[in-house]
Amino acid sequence: MDSIGQGTHSATPTWRRRLAGLGYKWSLVLITSFSVCAAVLLSYLLFVYFDVPENRILTGLFVATIVAIIVAPAASHVFIALLVELEASRLALARMATHDGLTDIFNRRYFDTCFAAESLRTVRVRQPMSVLMVDADEFKKINDRYGHATGDRVLQGIAAACAATLRPYDVLARYGGEEFVALLPSTTLEQACEIAERVRAAVESLTILSATDQPIPVTVSLGVGTLQPDDDANPETILLQADKALYEAKRSGRNRWCC
Ligand code: GH3
Ligand code: MG
Ligand code: MG
Repeated sequence: MDSIGQGTHSATPTWRRRLAGLGYKWSLVLITSFSVCAAVLLSYLLFVYFDVPENRILTGLFVATIVAIIVAPAASHVFIALLVELEASRLALARMATHDGLTDIFNRRYFDTCFAAESLRTVRVRQPMSVLMVDADEFKKINDRYGHATGDRVLQGIAAACAATLRPYDVLARYGGEEFVALLPSTTLEQACEIAERVRAAVESLTILSATDQPIPVTVSLGVGTLQPDDDANPETILLQADKALYEAKRSGRNRWCC
């Protein structure tokens, strides 16, 4: 599940991936050898085509080899450097398309893609599926009291605590502002509630210090939504369910989960 839509390597042509796999040194050797062979072969064909006398062909080939040996490594170096830069930019762009810049967890767009794919699978195999809506409590007060930069650190801490608590195949995303969402594939309501409690407890036990080294109390409220295997409801409704449950958790005192 974690890899749905990532496609980090699929867009790279095979030859570029193979070259990158060789590493810098062997790529340089390979491209240089190929260039030298190509230069010698091309020169030979040209000499033959233009009827160059045999005694001059050897000299010509010697010169072509020396020139290729001098020029090819420098040209290969530039080529490989550009290739590495291109690949790094492509990976960075791919990551930006799927991840949130502040918390480094998935973004909402990626979540929506996973949610659509997992909904189809869930309905087809008639398995349960759950979602958790997670919202930081009284976050505006944290911003007001400790400043926006500290607020950002708190959001990073909450995201990291949630990620560490969830299972590898769950999909955690920043839903917007101080709100997160977790997609829990093949998860019953009971299991989702246990996970919600683990997440709540993990965030509550976070130690985040302010700029003046004061511990900042951080809690979250959670709403759980579950699609039952025999449910004919539209999977989208579990997001509304989770939203309503989150509202209930806020209304009944915060730092808790409702389903
Ligand atoms: P509640 O417990 O009812 O959820 O109260 P709350 O204060 O958490 O909710 P409210 O919607 O009133 O405020 C959310 C705040 O989150 C307001 C907004 O400025 C802040 N916020 C949203 N995104 C970011 C961000 O990326 N960084 C920081 N530091 N603050 C953010
Ligand atoms: Mg909030
Ligand atoms: Mg909110």
